[in-house]
Amino acid sequence: MAENKTNKKIWLASPHMSDEGYEMQYVQEAFDTNWVAPLGPNVNEFENELAAKVGSKHAAALNSGTGAIHLALKAASVGGGDIVLCPTLTFSATANPIIYENAIPVFIDSDYETWNMDHKALEAALQKYGDKVKAVLVVHVYGLSADMDKIMEVCSKYNVTVIEDAAESLGAYYKGKHTGSFGEFGVFSFNGNKIITTSGGGMLVSNNEEKIKKVRFWSTQSRDAARHYQHSELGFNYRMSNVVAGIGRGQLKVLEQRVDKKKYIFEFYKRELGSLEGVEFMPINDWNEPNYWLSVMTLNGSVRPLDVMEALEKENIESRPVWKPMHMQPFFAEYDYVGSDVSEKLFENGVCLPSDTKMTYEDLERIYSIIKGLWSK
Ligand SMILES: *Cc1c(COP(=O)(O)O)cnc(C)c1O
Repeated sequence: MAENKTNKKIWLASPHMSDEGYEMQYVQEAFDTNWVAPLGPNVNEFENELAAKVGSKHAAALNSGTGAIHLALKAASVGGGDIVLCPTLTFSATANPIIYENAIPVFIDSDYETWNMDHKALEAALQKYGDKVKAVLVVHVYGLSADMDKIMEVCSKYNVTVIEDAAESLGAYYKGKHTGSFGEFGVFSFNGNKIITTSGGGMLVSNNEEKIKKVRFWSTQSRDAARHYQHSELGFNYRMSNVVAGIGRGQLKVLEQRVDKKKYIFEFYKRELGSLEGVEFMPINDWNEPNYWLSVMTLNGSVRPLDVMEALEKENIESRPVWKPMHMQPFFAEYDYVGSDVSEKLFENGVCLPSDTKMTYEDLERIYSIIKGLWSK
């Protein structure tokens, strides 16, 4: 489609570098000092800065959030035949690493209060599988935090390790504490569509220094301390490069700005669309300060999500359905699922609206009038 003033492409969420050019300054430094590879000062500083931001003691910079989940599972001693409880309403990257370790995912439904892991279904699964459960992976979907007090309480009762997949929730808080800092491990992603991006990358945080050191060791091919190449353990090539970490340091400086804009976008949609028949927005609990990564609404009336997505697509505007639950995915269909139909209903009725922080007020009005038009037909 040829682009002109009236059909300018609007993305769901795309990279947004700082106006100040912070990212280029750190990348330039890496070039000037030839710290292009492998590691270097940007990696160390990005780890320190990210850990400080989220209130965690230690961090390991990796080349993806998926890799961070994988090594978190290893660090939690998850192995073949162990069960890992995982929300069904998430991106497949949460669940795939469970399979990498030959462990068994059991999927847990969401609740309407949080859209995240339902603590009652979680407890039912822990009762059902007992000691076989080695870890619980909690996700903060769309930047909304899970109800961490309830989840931590259930997990400590059953003495099971908590890993938080905070890939979508950098900048989001639960009762004033950063998501990703509640469990033994927290995972962040800097993939291209996340609230800040390094083009691709991830971070594993923990207060356990030994475990983070071990993760750095595994992520750089598990090289023993010897002059020759010596390996006593299976290795991975999962480390972040110093150039990429430079982008991350620059992006971290504008995280609050990005959260503010995401919140503005959400509030615009809620104000303008919230009273249309059948429209509801994702739940904002008073104990949660989300990062509003994506603005998501559900439609329970005669206008369906597909109507909205098609109308926007015609005008060169990107929107998406809510995550298709893992227990409905052909690849994961053989695994157990605990819960009712909440995640299925959210998938059926949800639409992720354009949430790109580069959008102007005019862009938002354009989106609003296209969507609103569907109600006056
Ligand atoms: C993006 C995402 C990941 C994966 O992160 P990558 O850096 O793309 O590997 C994992 N979990 C969730 C919930 C995500 O949204």
